[in-house]
Amino acid sequence: MKLLTVTHPRTLSTCQSLVPTHSKFSTYLPINSLDVLLLFNLRQSTRNASYAGEMAAPSSSRGGDGSPNTAAHDCDGGESARSDRILSSKLYFDVHTSKVPLIYSPSYDIAFLGIEKLHPFDSSKWGRICRFLIAERLLDKKHLIEPLEAKREDLLVVHSESYLASLKNSLTVSTIVEVPPVALLPNCLVDKHVLYPFRKQVGGTILAAKVAKERGWAINVGGGFHHCSAAKGGGFCAYADITLCIHFAFARLSISRVMIIDLDAHQGNGHEKDFSGDSRVYILDMYNPDIYPFDYEARRNINQKVEVASGTTTNEYLSRLDGALKVATDAFDPELIIYNAGTDILDGDPLGRLKISPDGIATRDEKIFLFARKRDTPLVMLTSGGYMKSSAKVIADSIVNLSKKSLITLEGVQT
Ligand SMILES: [Zn+2]
Repeated sequence: MKLLTVTHPRTLSTCQSLVPTHSKFSTYLPINSLDVLLLFNLRQSTRNASYAGEMAAPSSSRGGDGSPNTAAHDCDGGESARSDRILSSKLYFDVHTSKVPLIYSPSYDIAFLGIEKLHPFDSSKWGRICRFLIAERLLDKKHLIEPLEAKREDLLVVHSESYLASLKNSLTVSTIVEVPPVALLPNCLVDKHVLYPFRKQVGGTILAAKVAKERGWAINVGGGFHHCSAAKGGGFCAYADITLCIHFAFARLSISRVMIIDLDAHQGNGHEKDFSGDSRVYILDMYNPDIYPFDYEARRNINQKVEVASGTTTNEYLSRLDGALKVATDAFDPELIIYNAGTDILDGDPLGRLKISPDGIATRDEKIFLFARKRDTPLVMLTSGGYMKSSAKVIADSIVNLSKKSLITLEGVQT
């Protein structure tokens, strides 16, 4: 049961289903060693809830012009450098209308060190989601959109040179992903097998906003790294994909008002830090305050904070969501909605500690898609946390439900 105390190992569960039978890393570390190291980490996590350093993160100063406190803005040539990088990025590309607005790459998966065999989480949930949809003949694999990797210049839109340089240290990455054995690997392997998959998912989140603007909605089957801010990674989040996505939307989609609806069980302290004092972004965060990251400073930046205590059940959860959406309606008129749809609110999830039923998840997602539809506002959904064996089916069923309710269509538009 100690394994259940791992702090939010987000992308150990990603979309790829081809987890190797024998990890190539097993030659570097025997499984027994990994087990020992993992258990060591778990004890540390249990003892120190702020293991990833979120509580100790340096406070960021507010931008005097109301723009976010991201590193590129403050230290790297300001807004014009950011704008140049965004305008020259290749992450926005033309997507043929025959494609369905579901964004996924086999490269999303992180299977390393054989660790996926040691923990109780489903490390192939995203591939299974896709397979469920394909098996039900709701989706053809060739209609999925494959994103590009977010390159260094793309990441510098919000991250600093020094932050990206810090990821060249395997120890730093091991702290961010909270898997100590990563510290023992050569950084080239860490980059290839851990950071590259993250960067592909970041590319997916960024592209999703463009696709949503064109098609009304888009789901990135991955992403939602809401614990990473421009200045600091943590909680298995190395890159601030939500912050990046929003800056790309500001610069390339003529969007000036964005609503983040973060319904992952954990508080989204990364984007909350990045958009503090930024009136262009409205944040609705519904989270369990009894679990990681306990970031009280970031909580001050939430426009509408809805705290749901451990043990909250479906009816109460959905009722409070209805109330929150009503408040948001009156408070803000978004041109884009970023929906962080973690499924770690599921009943039985050892990290989220909430008691929401599978049907409750489908209803929750339906409410958000309906909220966007009523306002004719483009919606980006990110799948974020949730790693039980049942999670993939629950997510697939929710997508099927959205299709049945005609809130999305999983067929490409023929031209
Ligand atoms: Zn979470």
